[in-house]
Amino acid sequence: MKIGVLGAGQLGRMLALSAYPLGHQMRFLASSEEDPSSLLGKTYIYDNPETINKFFEDSDVITYESENTDVEILNEIGKTTKVYPGCESLQYTQHRGREKALLDKLNIPCAPYKLVSSLSDLKCAISSIGLPAILKTTKDGYDGKGQFLIQTELQIDEAWEAMSGAESILEGFVNFKRELSLIAVRGIDGNLKYYPLVENSHHDGILRLTIAPAQNVSMSLQKKAESYMNSLLTAMNHVGVLTIELFELDDELIVNEIAPRVHNSGHWTIEGSNTSQFENHIRAITNSPLGDTSAKHQFNAMINIISKYGSTNKALEIKNAHLHLYDKTERENRKLGHITITSDSLEELQSSIKNLNEYLP
Ligand code: AMP
Repeated sequence: MKIGVLGAGQLGRMLALSAYPLGHQMRFLASSEEDPSSLLGKTYIYDNPETINKFFEDSDVITYESENTDVEILNEIGKTTKVYPGCESLQYTQHRGREKALLDKLNIPCAPYKLVSSLSDLKCAISSIGLPAILKTTKDGYDGKGQFLIQTELQIDEAWEAMSGAESILEGFVNFKRELSLIAVRGIDGNLKYYPLVENSHHDGILRLTIAPAQNVSMSLQKKAESYMNSLLTAMNHVGVLTIELFELDDELIVNEIAPRVHNSGHWTIEGSNTSQFENHIRAITNSPLGDTSAKHQFNAMINIISKYGSTNKALEIKNAHLHLYDKTERENRKLGHITITSDSLEELQSSIKNLNEYLP
């Protein structure tokens, strides 16, 4: 099939790398010829409506790399071309307010929140939620962008100014034990498969390290996360990969965010799982049988390469480490690549991570 991806970043690149062995062709709607996916398929630059139409005509099925995709455009395309995940998934997940309302409706726990459109709304929300709290724009935020941690009342004006008037949401600060995420894939026929829960470490709102599967996860915790996932997939009639970011409290899981796509915390699956998240997304949207999601090794890690490439040869010298670079130029806080490590010994995994500590703040 000809698979069209809206966007041409590293996620599109890795989708392409798993689509070719299955006999598919790739098309990308890119911002420039320099985008990370652009050499991995036929690339259409979205500088005029004619080229955009050609891209759609040239695709049998359309998917997207980011939840910050225009729903109206997707709705239009959906009239003539198959689009997976569909508009419903996009509509909920691209707006933090709609996403939280869906969680409430499905009785899935999330942090206390209030929508905020003015400084006086914000003051009112703080009086009900309390401090510390995090103010986030309802749309277009990623990697901690568009967020402000309010610790004291003296920061209220500054926090509101930082949102530049954009509609926002105030969330109570969650004192979590650790951050986890769950990735699942659902086919057109409703068949679904879950990956194991993984543990994520962030710095300045950006993912740095994933340990997969997360250690010390009880069967009941995994099942709880899967039941939240099942409700969300069904409610949105989602097709493809869906990711849920979670906060773990003592005996509870709170949903932080949902992403209707392959996710950075699932990059370990490229070498670590029997079927990677990228291949399973491709299988789902092309109506093919889904692949096994279990981990091939007992211990896996994924380390992001951010801002600077550093000594990437070190990763090549480590047994069971695999380097993935995205063909991007260095820039502060930019994701340039990642390293996956697989092992059947915890000591070996920890020692490999230690050897790569220049990538971990
Ligand atoms: P987000 O963009 O919403 O995923 O937030 C980025 C990171 O900020 C998360 O991975 C957490 O580390 C932190 N964070 C976000 N929301 C909260 C919250 N309500 N309470 C505590 N930490 C949070």
